[in-house]
Amino acid sequence: MAHIHIFILTALLLLPSNLHAWTGKVIGISDGDTIKVLHNRQQVKIRLHGVDTPEKKQAFGNKAKKFTSSMVAGKIVDVQETDKDRYGRTVALVNVEGKSLNRSLVKSGYAWVYKKYCKDSFCRDWLKDEKRARKQRLGLWQDPHAMAPWEWRHKGKDRGIGQTGFHGNTSSHVFHKPGCKHFNCKNCTLEFATRAKALSAGYRPCGMCRP
Ligand SMILES: [Zn+2]
Repeated sequence: MAHIHIFILTALLLLPSNLHAWTGKVIGISDGDTIKVLHNRQQVKIRLHGVDTPEKKQAFGNKAKKFTSSMVAGKIVDVQETDKDRYGRTVALVNVEGKSLNRSLVKSGYAWVYKKYCKDSFCRDWLKDEKRARKQRLGLWQDPHAMAPWEWRHKGKDRGIGQTGFHGNTSSHVFHKPGCKHFNCKNCTLEFATRAKALSAGYRPCGMCRP
């Protein structure tokens, strides 16, 4: 008799509901902080709450994506919705096998704590994790000049207008001035305050924008 009750109770708990916590299978990784989860036969795009991983075109963007993939791809995850973002995406805390994906990204140096949106009490612990990762030069912190993705996105929007400084291409070692179409290129992730600093770092001026 007790077994039947437990069965009914469990069945009720598993019924689709409007609760903001649910379980689903990860069917896609868009980037380090955005995944697709199958829930009630529907694909839900989820933006991880409180963290920001490097953009695809930024250094470590791909590595952040790989990290997320290694943690959750194809797995069953617990999704705790916290919000909807301005693109209508579900913002959530994601747990896999009892571990927080959001926090793991920060701990391993693949994400910044998104301070602007991380206002919960646990965010303070996450910031400590970020500090530790930075100190240990984990992941993206191997680059001491790592630019926060929100700054990077902002710079991309007004490509060079009103900007100072130069962007060095870490692969070709060519540097560009604001306004150049290569200013925010894939590998143009290193910033120099002055032309002289770029030159002394061994970077060559771009032939097109002639910085
Ligand atoms: Zn240039």
